[in-house]
Amino acid sequence: MSEERFDAIVIGAGPAGIACAYKLAQEGREVLVIERADQPGAKNLTGGRFYTYALEMVAEGLTAEAELERKVSHEQIMIISGPRAVCVEYIDPSFVSGEVPQSYTILRASFDRWFASKAEEMGAMIVGGIKVDDLIEKNGRIVGVIAGEDEMYADVVIAADGVNSLIARKAGLRGEIASQSVGIGVKEVIELPPEVIEQRFNLATGEGVARMILGCTEGIHGGGFLYTNRDSISLGAVFMPEEVAAHRHSVHEIFQHLKMHPAIYPLIEGGTTVEYGGHLVSEDGYDGILKRPYREGLLVVGDAAGFVINTGSSIRGIDLAILSGLAAAEALLATSNPALAGSEYMKALERLQVLPTMKTVRGYRDLLNIERLYGPYPDFAADVMQGMYRVDGKVPPKMKKIITTALKQNKLSLWNLIKDGLKGVRSA
Ligand SMILES: Cc1cc2nc3c(=O)[nH]c(=O)nc-3n(C[C@H](O)[C@H](O)[C@H](O)COP(=O)(O)OP(=O)(O)OC[C@H]3O[C@@H](n4cnc5c(N)ncnc54)[C@H](O)[C@@H]3O)c2cc1C
Repeated sequence: MSEERFDAIVIGAGPAGIACAYKLAQEGREVLVIERADQPGAKNLTGGRFYTYALEMVAEGLTAEAELERKVSHEQIMIISGPRAVCVEYIDPSFVSGEVPQSYTILRASFDRWFASKAEEMGAMIVGGIKVDDLIEKNGRIVGVIAGEDEMYADVVIAADGVNSLIARKAGLRGEIASQSVGIGVKEVIELPPEVIEQRFNLATGEGVARMILGCTEGIHGGGFLYTNRDSISLGAVFMPEEVAAHRHSVHEIFQHLKMHPAIYPLIEGGTTVEYGGHLVSEDGYDGILKRPYREGLLVVGDAAGFVINTGSSIRGIDLAILSGLAAAEALLATSNPALAGSEYMKALERLQVLPTMKTVRGYRDLLNIERLYGPYPDFAADVMQGMYRVDGKVPPKMKKIITTALKQNKLSLWNLIKDGLKGVRSA
């Protein structure tokens, strides 16, 4: 492979890199995708929900062919306080009706492999088991990549190497990752027969649950998630690294508590853990986007550029990764000199709504920074519920009394509720 030349070299076969390679190859460009894992997806980990509109933007009808798990019909938020749990569920048939349901649960090993095969059908060349170590620069312009002993050249290089992008660092577009800018995600995939999953979650065949969990991180900033796949459940949690390092329990211990929780264990009971992994997730939202996700001869896409949103009710990274990959491809196809596609790329990110979407939800970072969300508020919610549902033969307290007692028990004041409520409304 020494000294070969391509129109474009894409580093990383995640959704961002593959979307870009797909479009460029479809338009007849010679594209090489270099992936460090032996197979696309083999090293990748996500919570598990994918919004389908992004695939439809790659090619209409692609969703119908994709390796997907269950269409998400049940949106849930669970608040945990000790052994208690409050669950809010939203069921919307319009999310799963029509030819293209709004979102599906996915497993990255199969999804990424399938998506890569589609790019190959378009003519992209994908090589696995090779890690790109560095960029080749000539006169201030990126002209290729170095992988081990090999040098490969291209008119443009696309860095799609994920959240802790070595390539963006090598290009001088970002520094070392700050610990407060990322969460540590851990996840288990627990196998169960499809009919058991459908019965336990009250689902119709092929339908699924996306559940975000608050209050399961022992006060550490973060939260849990649960997604139902065809014949497995993805259960995981995300923690802020600095806080977890100083905590009395390890990530593993906190996660085991979550698994054994009375509202979780019956859902996974009897299942077999077939996968366990960890991954970083970008937490900075709009403020974490690279100031300049390009250089002469280089475009940075997906997580590598910081295109991830966490609103507390959902995490969106895969769809934005695909859109940014498409934006890069559109920019390259629109310019006569691909090395200078940076400003076209920025315009395409606007046009495809990546930047406007991220800007709109920018304030969620402030909302999720409210410390009381991770301890006092979950306990307060459970205490209010307990007051409402407890019947013990005594005269039941009035609602006002239930709320004031719950506030007092959790060292909260009405002022806290108003202040944080206003912050929440303003930031969302
Ligand atoms: C715990 C957790 C839960 C999440 N939940 C969701 C969710 O439910 N929904 C959602 O939309 N998003 C979710 N996300 C975010 C989502 O996973 C990412 O935003 C998305 O995967 C970004 O895609 P990408 O292509 O940019 O990067 P990645 O998917 O990380 O792909 C990068 C690729 O580059 C390869 N690579 C890296 N370095 C090199 C190198 N030097 N040479 C060659 N190859 C290299 C990697 O092996 C990998 O294949 C979650 C993330 C985490 C960690």
